[in-house]
Amino acid sequence: MRIDLHTHTIASDGLLAPEALVALAHDAGVGVLAVADHDSTDGVDPAMTAGRRVGMEIIPAVEINTDIHESEIHILGYYIDHHQPWFQEFLGRLRDGRVNRAAKMVEKLNALGIRIDFARVRALASGAVGRPHVARALVEAGVVGSTEEAFEKYLGRNGPAYVERMKLSPPEAVQVIQRAGGIPVLAHPGWGVKDEMITALVETGLEGLEVYYPDHTPAMVTRYLEIARRLRLLVAGGTDFHGGDLATKVPPGSQYVPVECVEKLKERHEAKSLRQ
Ligand SMILES: [Zn+2]
Ligand SMILES: [Zn+2]
Repeated sequence: MRIDLHTHTIASDGLLAPEALVALAHDAGVGVLAVADHDSTDGVDPAMTAGRRVGMEIIPAVEINTDIHESEIHILGYYIDHHQPWFQEFLGRLRDGRVNRAAKMVEKLNALGIRIDFARVRALASGAVGRPHVARALVEAGVVGSTEEAFEKYLGRNGPAYVERMKLSPPEAVQVIQRAGGIPVLAHPGWGVKDEMITALVETGLEGLEVYYPDHTPAMVTRYLEIARRLRLLVAGGTDFHGGDLATKVPPGSQYVPVECVEKLKERHEAKSLRQ
């Protein structure tokens, strides 16, 4: 049985509806799937309904984007109690920040003489609007050949259309996930997260590390497993599937994730539920 603890849907910047993601993952032999959209849990309930139909276990999750100095850190939250109104309000505020940011990016592009329309960017996003949607609008308008090129030329941190995001720190995201009854896990540390940061986050309540990830080399996996063991962290993993040419570009279930990762995650979730 395959396991995938990191996937996206149209609730954020993924290309598939939750039902279509579940169907695709099911065909790929996935038995346990976590739906972890950026700053949204809107894909979770539809995925759970679709999962029940095909006998696939769906873990409710979220991926919260945070800022630290000059880089971004993503915090996954597993088994969050996503129906809590305060939590939905919080995610809504994060998404509003993104919409404003995308609108400002379009303004900057227009000022550069590039004609793309914010309404089109919004239409490309069924859920939370993000930079990938601006990138797709640029591809669609023939301004660039790929979303990668859009990030390189315009939307990256040093690009002329870059706009600072609403700031949320990694410890704040960890605390919010804890308050929502979830298990905070640092996503893809191989994307330039310093080892000291992992240690610092553990002190603020981080409980796991995403070790198994398409962009991680075997040497990185070994090193992160060692760090997880030393800091007594849970181990997670997944494809970061978005569909199309976004993110890691690998199909759901194609990243090896040991079954004991799910067992340990579940044990922790059960222990937390008993405490509450
Ligand atoms: Zn991420
Ligand atoms: Zn992701």
